[in-house]
Amino acid sequence: MMDFSYMRPASLEAAGAGLASGGTLLGGGTGLLDLARLGIAQPQAVIDLTRLPGLDRIEVTGTEARIGALIKMSRLAAHPAMRAALPAVGQSLLASASPQIRNMATIGGNLLQRTRCAYFRDASFGSCNRRNPGSGCAAIGGVTRGHALLGTSAHCIATHPGDLAVALVALDAVVETWSPDGPRALSIHDFFLAPGATPEKEFALASGDIVTGLRIPLAPAAQRARYVKLRDRASYEFAAASIAAGLSLTDDGRVADIRIALGGVATIPWRARAVEAALRGQRPTPAAIAAAAALAMREAEPQHDNRHKLALVPALIERTLTEMIGDAA
Ligand SMILES: Cc1cc2nc3c(=O)[nH]c(=O)nc-3n(C[C@H](O)[C@H](O)[C@H](O)COP(=O)(O)OP(=O)(O)OC[C@H]3O[C@@H](n4cnc5c(N)ncnc54)[C@H](O)[C@@H]3O)c2cc1C
Ligand code: SF4
Repeated sequence: MMDFSYMRPASLEAAGAGLASGGTLLGGGTGLLDLARLGIAQPQAVIDLTRLPGLDRIEVTGTEARIGALIKMSRLAAHPAMRAALPAVGQSLLASASPQIRNMATIGGNLLQRTRCAYFRDASFGSCNRRNPGSGCAAIGGVTRGHALLGTSAHCIATHPGDLAVALVALDAVVETWSPDGPRALSIHDFFLAPGATPEKEFALASGDIVTGLRIPLAPAAQRARYVKLRDRASYEFAAASIAAGLSLTDDGRVADIRIALGGVATIPWRARAVEAALRGQRPTPAAIAAAAALAMREAEPQHDNRHKLALVPALIERTLTEMIGDAA
């Protein structure tokens, strides 16, 4: 592990000054320090955000939830008003990492977590466009069981690893940031960047931006949403495939609003718009659900080892929606 300097600012302005002089932000440290130990991240100066005032609040009003960026994953998962208002948030958090990590990790850090691509995390592989722009991609043609099928490019096929982020994409969350230029609000749909030709650019943040919190509107489909994660073992494992699904029905049983986001299969948390469009306004019969679910992977570009997800994802969508409609009846 390398040496670095450490500062614990008491204001956003002081944190911003640290960032401007080349520092790296630190939340709970569960991602950053891991990468520093592996020699992938090389922070010269670490700016510990955890004592900044005002970023550790959770507030649920009649219309939205507001979540400070320094809230720990475990605290948000256990928050009674959040569990009642937006159960998919807690479900996604409890399906993430381990209790020890959830006790340390912050919501801001969770949103900014880096890929788990094994080639990215092993410095002995020289070719990784995300780590070393222009160097190539060791994963393409390599072992690709955990890599993405959606949103990939010829430059990077790394899967987005987060769980909470998938729920936030289904819930149409808004990310709030602060920089010396002032506060900004950014749709979650614009926050994560697909790799394209610049995989090293992962988030739509400017160099001085600090994530300060989240807002989630309380629409009926969001309030009924759930998160389901499939993985190789029952806990402490990243998603093989996951879904955050929200649904509301009209009085005559048609789909009024539907939100479907997928994890474990795409380079960014993936909103399955074609599936939603096929069901919106329709009666969610078993045949309609199956036909819509089949559209989810229409644009997928599988690699050698991940073709099984072409069938896994539609089955997950079909099962989840069928259970939700059964529970609503
Ligand atoms: C063994 C293991 C298993 C895991 N399993 C899962 C899993 O199943 N699902 C899942 O979703 N995650 C999983 N994770 C990832 C874990 O959730 C993240 O490491 C954690 O959420 C990061 O939060 P942190 O506060 O510790 O971030 P840090 O490590 O402190 O920071 C992470 C990144 O975010 C930046 N950052 C931090 N806070 C801010 C801010 N406010 N504004 C701007 N930038 C900021 C940092 O500079 C850094 O680049 C796992 C991690 C480990 C180590
Ligand atoms: S998939 Fe992306 S992160 Fe993984 S080696 Fe290729 S460029 Fe790097």
